[in-house]
Amino acid sequence: MIVVMTPKATADQVQHVVNLVNEMGLKEHVIVGTDLTVVAVIGDDRKKDKGALEQAAGVDRVVPILAPYKLAAKETKPERSLVTIGKDVVFGGKHVPVIAGPCSVEGEDKILEAAAQVKAAGAHALRGGAFKPRTNPYSFQGYGEDGLKMLAAARDATGLPIVTEVLTPSDVQLVSKYADCLQIGTRNCQNFKLLEACGDQPKPVLIKRGMAMTLDEYLQATEYILAMGNPNVILCERGIRTFEDHTRNTLSLSAVPELQHRSHLPIVIDPSHGTGVARLVPAMARAAVAAGADGLAIEMHPSPEHAMTDGAQSLTPDVLKQTIESMRRVAAAVDREM
Ligand code: PEP
Ligand code: MN
Repeated sequence: MIVVMTPKATADQVQHVVNLVNEMGLKEHVIVGTDLTVVAVIGDDRKKDKGALEQAAGVDRVVPILAPYKLAAKETKPERSLVTIGKDVVFGGKHVPVIAGPCSVEGEDKILEAAAQVKAAGAHALRGGAFKPRTNPYSFQGYGEDGLKMLAAARDATGLPIVTEVLTPSDVQLVSKYADCLQIGTRNCQNFKLLEACGDQPKPVLIKRGMAMTLDEYLQATEYILAMGNPNVILCERGIRTFEDHTRNTLSLSAVPELQHRSHLPIVIDPSHGTGVARLVPAMARAAVAAGADGLAIEMHPSPEHAMTDGAQSLTPDVLKQTIESMRRVAAAVDREM
């Protein structure tokens, strides 16, 4: 970090800052300019509290230089990470995979039907929630382990790897046993014990950005998983809370190039939760590919009007197929494949 002194800071105040830096076990390099003095802190200061230095007399501001997320940052690993789900669905390369399926697993026949439609539409992985995070405690909460078994049956029938949400640290081992990729939902993006538990199991993790989190906070959340030794993390932008009310959330597509600028981790776009409106999903899915997304997560239901959850934003199988076909053309235009 760099400590910028105020123009009127005295030599004693600069020395006091240098003493504080040394007390932290770090070295300093004082640069005296014509208008003001700055103290460059030398060494890894990520574990230090910059707020403490901001309190010192004569300090104007403290500017961090290193990203606070060491393992997620591009400055640590410049080449893009490839994360594989199942045997061969790779995120972060030239190919742009599509994860599709219903919001919830609604029964074995239903998920088998949906899985066959997802495959026929040209998608590469199957999604479906067995553990559902619901705003209301009386709403359908998912079929739990039975739902995981139904997903496993759908994988056996189609060969599609499965992506499913885990809600709590105590379910991580169970979900990890069945799933090819664990999903951490937007509401749990800063559930640090869940992040650590997902970092301590072998399957890849798709972590959705918290709906009120900055990208800086988001990447620090991914750091919890990476720091536990699991390098297979996929980011997912699914829309944030704003004043906008024509959509359920505001899909921040600029998060794609910005996250790729800051991090080597692949980034997937979820235009379903990102809009909440099925008729807006195809256009935003194509826009995501144009923006350079490394994958898509799209809700599809065999009959959206009968869906138990998120019917309003779920595509029909036909529309999913058409959307993937149109995304393919966009992918070719930006030198990607689908
Ligand atoms: C979901 O994927 O169905 C879901 C609950 O997503 P989110 O956490 O983004 O709301
Ligand atoms: Mn959903």
